[in-house]
Amino acid sequence: MSDYDYLVVGAGLFGATFAYEAAKRGKHVMVIEKRDHIAGNVYTEEVDGIQVHKYGAHIFHTSNKHIWQYVNQFAEFNRYTNSPIANYKGQIYNLPFNMNTFNEMWGTHTPEEARAKIDEQRREMAGKQPQNLEEQAISLIGRDIYEKLIKGYTEKQWGQKATALPAFIIRRLPVRLTYNNNYFNDDYQGIPIGGYTQIVEKMLASDLIDVETGVDFFDHKQDYLSKYPRILFTGTIDQFFGYQLGELQYRSLRFDTKELNTGNYQGNAVVNYTDAETPYTRIIEHKHFEFGKGDKDKTIITREYPADWHRGDEPYYPVNNQRNNTLYTKYQELAKKQPQVIFGGRLGQYRYYNMDQVIAAALKTVDKEFDN
Ligand code: FAD
Ligand code: UDP
Repeated sequence: MSDYDYLVVGAGLFGATFAYEAAKRGKHVMVIEKRDHIAGNVYTEEVDGIQVHKYGAHIFHTSNKHIWQYVNQFAEFNRYTNSPIANYKGQIYNLPFNMNTFNEMWGTHTPEEARAKIDEQRREMAGKQPQNLEEQAISLIGRDIYEKLIKGYTEKQWGQKATALPAFIIRRLPVRLTYNNNYFNDDYQGIPIGGYTQIVEKMLASDLIDVETGVDFFDHKQDYLSKYPRILFTGTIDQFFGYQLGELQYRSLRFDTKELNTGNYQGNAVVNYTDAETPYTRIIEHKHFEFGKGDKDKTIITREYPADWHRGDEPYYPVNNQRNNTLYTKYQELAKKQPQVIFGGRLGQYRYYNMDQVIAAALKTVDKEFDN
């Protein structure tokens, strides 16, 4: 038996929050991480004075005051407000769908004019219950916006026809009759000054926590199971069980990052390319997440290319359709027969969690584990 109380598999936000809270309670924790760095997908790295979001744009937003205060223990946040724009075949539109977007799309000026136009557009779905993402989008906002700002982006992102995708994906996007370009409705929002990695570093800083990077749980699975009394596993749950019930589906991504000899490439942190032809979904320009940081003659941009997932690829997004959710509940049944192991996080719980939700879920697991 090992001297540690816990083995935590994965040094992302879920694993780190759990390890931090366990150490606070005097527990001895070993954290293993298969990548060569900690922090999972929130990992940021400083390049030429700019914090580069290595795994895509990460904006912290929440309406949960407790979680906001919790994360602020580990970093000071700036007042960044996400206001992405959409580029559809060279035409620029504000996001999320708001009075600016409606003006750009239809020339409407007042909420009344916009509402009338949206109602006219939505009539196509009158009396019908939306059965898929396409129908949901049209019943929410109408065909014009669906065709230009949703269809191409969504089909690239998920690698499926919008008619085959579940409606819930699009419910995440707000529709507003105000000139408000804030992408999120949450009470709190920002980017940690100095990046996200420091948050996880501080969470793992306790003398009671040891961290090993470049270590894959599956290289020594049986050994770990026999040595550690308790294991928190934040990798993919289907892989843990050797895919014995079949594969869950994931969506992968390829990030293409470039440094450019210009001070300002696109004038905004996030630009979405919403047509079907452009192979990437968005370009992020990292310096715009912070204010006045970085070289005035240089910038770093990342193009985000959606990709099919095959075993061995990074599983960035769970694909929460009915088939996969049903299969996941079967894996949960197997998990119940393995009480030594707790499954957590975006991959262990197979859920499209944002950062605040992942921290909240980890704290819930902590409560359950330590019964307080
Ligand atoms: P992860 O960060 O994936 O951590 C799991 C860790 O476990 C990884 O480091 C992995 O390498 C490791 N691991 C897996 N298997 C093994 C193994 N066998 N052995 C050892 N280690 C293993 N959220 C927001 O709130 N705002 C945003 O703007 C936002 N943008 C996002 C953009 C993109 C492109 C993506 C992909 C996600 C975004 N998110 C955003 C979500 C956010 O990244 C997640 O909520 C959060 O990172 C999940 O934390 P986690 O610990 O569950 O998973
Ligand atoms: N979406 C879209 N057009 C956009 C941005 C998003 O159609 O310009 C859709 C797309 O289906 C996407 C979903 O809205 O998967 C959720 O978008 P969000 O920006 O919340 O996704 P994330 O940043 O988590 O990838």
